[in-house]
Amino acid sequence: MKIAVIGTGYVGLVTGTCLSETGNNVICVDINEAKVQQMQAGVVPIYEPGLDVLFHRNIAQGRLTFTTDLAHAVKDAQIIFMALPTPPGGDGAADLSYILGAAKDISKLVTSYKVIVNKSTVPVGTADKVQAVFAANTDVEIDVVSNPEFLREGVAVEDFMKPDRVVIGTRSDKAQKLMNELYGPYVRQGNPILFMDERSSELTKYAANSFLATKITFMNEVANLCEIVDADVDAVRKGIGSDARIGKRFLFPGIGYGGSCFPKDVQALAKSADEHNYDFQILRSVMQVNEKQKTIIVDKLLKYYKGDLKGKHFALWGLAFKPETDDIREAPALYIIDELIKHGATVTAFDPEGMANVKGLIGDKIKYAQNQYEALIGADALLIATEWSVFRNPDFEKMEESLSNKVIFDGRNLYDLQKMIDLGYYYNSVGRKLIN
Ligand code: NAD
Repeated sequence: MKIAVIGTGYVGLVTGTCLSETGNNVICVDINEAKVQQMQAGVVPIYEPGLDVLFHRNIAQGRLTFTTDLAHAVKDAQIIFMALPTPPGGDGAADLSYILGAAKDISKLVTSYKVIVNKSTVPVGTADKVQAVFAANTDVEIDVVSNPEFLREGVAVEDFMKPDRVVIGTRSDKAQKLMNELYGPYVRQGNPILFMDERSSELTKYAANSFLATKITFMNEVANLCEIVDADVDAVRKGIGSDARIGKRFLFPGIGYGGSCFPKDVQALAKSADEHNYDFQILRSVMQVNEKQKTIIVDKLLKYYKGDLKGKHFALWGLAFKPETDDIREAPALYIIDELIKHGATVTAFDPEGMANVKGLIGDKIKYAQNQYEALIGADALLIATEWSVFRNPDFEKMEESLSNKVIFDGRNLYDLQKMIDLGYYYNSVGRKLIN
C-alpha cells in the first residue's frame, strides 16, 4: 500500500518505518527541515532500540522516504497517518491545533478517496472535528479513522511489530477493510484488531494511559505508607501482584510518572470529563499525588541535611524519564534538579542517552559527566532517578573511591538492602527499610 505519515516524532517515525518493513511504500512528512535533511542523509533523529536497522534497510530498498512537501506525500497515498503533537493547552485540555491544521492542509490537496488515520492521542470527538474540516474544504470522499498508538518508548519497535492489540475506530466498511489488510501482518500470532466506533477508540487510549498512571500512583502511595509503618513495599508488591486480577506488571514504586504521555493524558482526560460536566475525581488525586512524588527525594535530602542543602554537591544517575530512551519530557530528574538548584546545591549528572536533550533544555545549570563514575567525584551523595540497566550492578569499590560519603538516595529501588548493609552505605530507597 502507499502510505503517508505526517509527523516523524517518536510515534510517526516508528510507525512509518515499521509500516515500510512489511512491504508498504511509506513517505514521511515533517515541517522540521533540519530533521528531514538528517533522515534523508540516513541519520535516525531519536534514540529508540532496534529502529536504526529497520530504518536503514527500508531506505536502502526504496520503501521509506522523507520530505517536507505535504502535497507530494498526499498525492498518491491511500492511507494518511497523522502522528502529530497534542500537547496540553493552557487549561490542560489537549491542544488540537496541529491535528486540525494538518487536516485543513491535507483537505486542500486530496483529489481521490483517502483514509485519514489519527494516531495522535486525542479527546473524544476529534474524529468528528477532523471530518468536519474535510467537509468544509473538499467534496472528495474521505474516511477519518481513529487508531491510537500504544507503543512504549524504549521498546517501540517491538510494540509496533507485535502489538498486544490494534484499536481501530471507524464505522466505514471501506476504511475497515483497508486497515484490516494493513495491520494483518502485525497480528499473525492472533492478537486482536479491535474495531469499534471512533469515540470509543479515542477514549480507549486515554483510559489505558490513565489507568496505568493510576496503578503506578497507587503503588507510590503504598510505598510511602510502607516507609511510615515499617513494611517492605517489595514484599507487598509481590503479595498483591500474584493475584491474577491485579497482575505483576506496573507495580514498581518510584519517584512519579513522567514522559510525554501519562502527565498530559491524565490531565486531558480529566479536563475532557470536566467539559462534559463529569468530575473524574480519581484522576485529580492521581495528578496531585504524582506532583508530590516527583520531589520525594528532595524532601528526604532536606530531612537528612536538616533543611540545608546550600553548597552540597550531588551526583545524579539518570535524566531520561525512563530507561532505553533519550526522551526527557516531564522527567522526574528535571524536577529534582530544579529543586536542588533552588536550595543552593550543585549537580553532576550522567545518563546514557538523555544528556544532550537536557543540555539543550537547561544548558550548564548542571555539570555532565562522561560516565557514571565520573559523576560521583566529590559528591556528598548519589541520587538515582532512572533505572538504566548499567546502574543496576555497578562497581561499588570504584564508587567508594569517588563519592565523598557513602550515601545513596535511590528513587528506583535498584539495590538489595542486605548488600547495602554489607557495604556500609546509608541507603534510602522508596517504600523500603532505611539502611543507615
Ligand atoms: P513528537 O513531538 O516526538 O513528534 C511530533 C512531530 O511532528 C515532530 O517531529 C514535529 O516536527 C512534527 N510536526 C509538527 N507539526 C507538523 C506538521 N504540521 N506537519 C508535519 N509534521 C509536523 O511527538 P510523539 O511523541 O511522536 O507524539 C505524537 C502523538 O502520539 C501525541 O499525540 C502523543 O500523545 C501520541 N503518543 C505518543 C507516544 C510516545 O511514547 N511518544 C505513545 C503513544 C501515543
